Amino acid sequence: MIAGARVEPEPGKRNPLDFALWKSWSEGEPWWNSPWSPGRPGWHLECVVMSSKYLGVPFDIHGGGQDLIFPHHENEIAIARVYFGIDYFARYWIHVGLVTIRGQKMSKSLGNIIPIMDVLRKYDGEVLRLYYSMTQYRKPMDFDPDALDQVRNSLMSIYAAYDMLIEAVNEAPPTWATRILNC
Ligand SMILES: [Zn+2]
Repeated sequence: MIAGARVEPEPGKRNPLDFALWKSWSEGEPWWNSPWSPGRPGWHLECVVMSSKYLGVPFDIHGGGQDLIFPHHENEIAIARVYFGIDYFARYWIHVGLVTIRGQKMSKSLGNIIPIMDVLRKYDGEVLRLYYSMTQYRKPMDFDPDALDQVRNSLMSIYAAYDMLIEAVNEAPPTWATRILNC
């Protein structure tokens, strides 16, 4: 809440805690005409418009990274409560831990981002999904590309066990097989 502690206050703000509902046009950005200036909706407003249009308000679950709690999600709540006259915007807020890579924050500025398409060229999507599900969603997740081989092996063991089970069921006497399949 201290001005300038987190981000430099933007020039032209009456109060550093104010946030933009409408961004004036800058070179290279899409824009629309408005009574205020040519420009585009601010980020917080975009999210409120999209979610309320498709989900209605209030809706059940709003997700996002932990770094979005403030200011983004708090500003979404402020907009939605005032505009729709509701007590709450979403019933549950689910904030996921951030992804690090070998202990370092994964970010464009550090240049250590691994595009998902690069990973998918080497590993099946199922390997990635199993890897992601091994960390609790609120905990930071350290992405270690070297660990993916191990996860692929675990996945292969799961499928091998599955195949053996199916085979056993198929070879078992009918009553036993139906009992297993029906449970
Ligand atoms: Zn948002």
